[in-house]
Amino acid sequence: MRIVAEWALLPEGWARDVVLTTDGGRFVAVEPGADAAGATRAPGPVLPGLANLHSHAFQRAMAGLTEIASGEDDFWSWRERMYAFLARLTPEAMQAVARQLYVEMLEAGYTGVAEFHYVHHQPDGRPYADRAETSRRLIAAAAETGIAITHLPVLYAASDFGGKAPNPGQRRFLSDAEGLLEVVEALRLAHAADPLVRIGIAPHSLRAVPPAMLDDLLRGFGAIDPEGPVHIHIAEQLREVEACRAWSGARPVEWLLGHAAVDRRWCLVHATHLAAEERRTLAASGAVAGLCPSTEANLGDGLFPLVDYLAEAGRFGIGSDSHVTIDAAEELRLLEYGQRLTRRRRAVSVAEGRPSIGTGLLLAAAAGGAQALGQPTGRLAAGARADLVILGAAHPTLAGRTGDTIADSFVFAAGRETPVREVWVAGRRVVADGRHPGREAARAGFRDAMAVLLG
Ligand SMILES: [Zn+2]
Repeated sequence: MRIVAEWALLPEGWARDVVLTTDGGRFVAVEPGADAAGATRAPGPVLPGLANLHSHAFQRAMAGLTEIASGEDDFWSWRERMYAFLARLTPEAMQAVARQLYVEMLEAGYTGVAEFHYVHHQPDGRPYADRAETSRRLIAAAAETGIAITHLPVLYAASDFGGKAPNPGQRRFLSDAEGLLEVVEALRLAHAADPLVRIGIAPHSLRAVPPAMLDDLLRGFGAIDPEGPVHIHIAEQLREVEACRAWSGARPVEWLLGHAAVDRRWCLVHATHLAAEERRTLAASGAVAGLCPSTEANLGDGLFPLVDYLAEAGRFGIGSDSHVTIDAAEELRLLEYGQRLTRRRRAVSVAEGRPSIGTGLLLAAAAGGAQALGQPTGRLAAGARADLVILGAAHPTLAGRTGDTIADSFVFAAGRETPVREVWVAGRRVVADGRHPGREAARAGFRDAMAVLLG
């Protein structure tokens, strides 16, 4: 394929009259001002594909069901409702919900997703005949829709710091390091030839994985895939920070940085509550902070110190986590607005020295998301996978926009109707005219699943 774009967002910034040539699912050339003879004209500006680096697919089915006040509502009371919801969740329903979710992600401009997957077993806690059953359902949903996936089977063993016994609501999640690595091996074998599937691991949190088990998991996975992605929930809630201090004397991120070789393979999901020293060390580690602004707002988590972290060249990507919002532009907007509201200033999240907030955040989130997924995406450059998003030049919000103001208008001013017009994954168009061809079928399957889930 050869596409020519009047504007394209390259790793170094916006460029004009860019010819993008692909072969075998990769870009072989990305050339500003090249001869465009024979190339197809893109219907608007071209962005790199964005990864959604943190998803619990089944939670798409709960979005909007937990907003009724019952007194002391917080993350922990929300979690109890989430556990109750799981009682009726079948593998078939998981696949139907994920299919709907992934269609929505693609239509919103996400080209890849990291699925942090902890619902492994039957509702009574017994394993399925195939221990990878539910993982396979989510990977199948990704294949049906065309989104790239990094699947992260989650290790979950304890209900709190110090290896506290798990509670009944957690019985679908439980395994040990050895059992989880068997699932990882089975999935790697099944998808070894599929360039759109990567398998990583996710120790759920320091609460759920005691130190010796964390060591076993990291050592075992390092032997299987030394470059493989490792994701962990961390420092999302103040109560968790206090409990970690009571248990170990250290804050969660401080403890992790002191006990594991955290490097660019790692994604620290949320990392909301950071002391200055933790923030600096995390930024220097090369790991990605997995920020989920809409979910963190919905759950009342707190605000990540983004401005200082970016000034220290910290890396980040965005995730939709509980899926109350499936819109990359909205996540980036919320990220910046949280910082503005607390600082009472404008245009504060300056990434990589770029004064355009939209351009800086889009490029940083695309690069950080690709790193967290462990996939060769997130940039319009030769050698990268041909994942791209084309905005509609005819969208009113983009009228007369050039360069940085395209990104700023997309992030801050697109409004109700997304300007995302086409989405390509590995050189294949999966969204055309703003629509995924599987949209109606996915919706029908989702409605059927919801009828079962809500009884
Ligand atoms: Zn999460």
